[in-house]
Amino acid sequence: MPLVIAMDGPSGSGKSSASKGVARALGLRYLDTGAMYRAVTWWMLRNGVPVEDAAAVAARAQDPVLESGTDPDGPTITVDGADVSGPIRTREVTNAVSAVSAVPAVRARLVELQREIIGAGGIVVEGRDIGTVVAPDAPVKVYLTASDEVRARRRAKDLAADPGASVTVTLDEQARRDRLDSTRRASPLAVAAGAHEIDSTELTLDEVIEAVVRLAKEQE
Ligand code: C5P
Repeated sequence: MPLVIAMDGPSGSGKSSASKGVARALGLRYLDTGAMYRAVTWWMLRNGVPVEDAAAVAARAQDPVLESGTDPDGPTITVDGADVSGPIRTREVTNAVSAVSAVPAVRARLVELQREIIGAGGIVVEGRDIGTVVAPDAPVKVYLTASDEVRARRRAKDLAADPGASVTVTLDEQARRDRLDSTRRASPLAVAAGAHEIDSTELTLDEVIEAVVRLAKEQE
């Protein structure tokens, strides 16, 4: 069975950097499922769909055509053929994504796409529901956390080009997003059965990568 590593956790826990690093270290593919929810959200905003209206979002859930590239050295995401890797990181999308990702029709569509990609071979998959819903049989499941403060600092650094994104604003927006992601009815963020919890507050990126690689090697 190909190696599947599920990496879940809240925003800013360091999932993306760690997941890419683990994929590189083990020669696996990499899938950022958050980018897929962001891409659908970008499409809804772009097409004038009111994102707080779950029925309106559900009615269009099948329409955007998504393609995810899984090279950890250059992951890509396109919607209807357009590269959206930049636009999906704006605050506008970030603050709308939890409403869109809470819609069951959106989740059903993306989980199906994710399972197709995962089925093609070894891969590190990052998200919120990978160990609980998308790939509950993954041989390695990790739940990555960090303190609220450290997570907001990391996020604010990612958003350095956006003058509105101070650590305080990011802390508030992050708390809101985590609350929405953890309390929604459909596949809320939760620690999967059998997941290894790693708190990255006091760890360097390399230490997190090493810890996950060790877990993967123990599976062999
Ligand atoms: O990981 P990232 O912060 O880019 O994820 C963006 C949003 O996508 C999350 O806040 C969450 O609402 C949603 N998401 C999800 N399930 C996943 C991955 C992301 O609901 N597996």
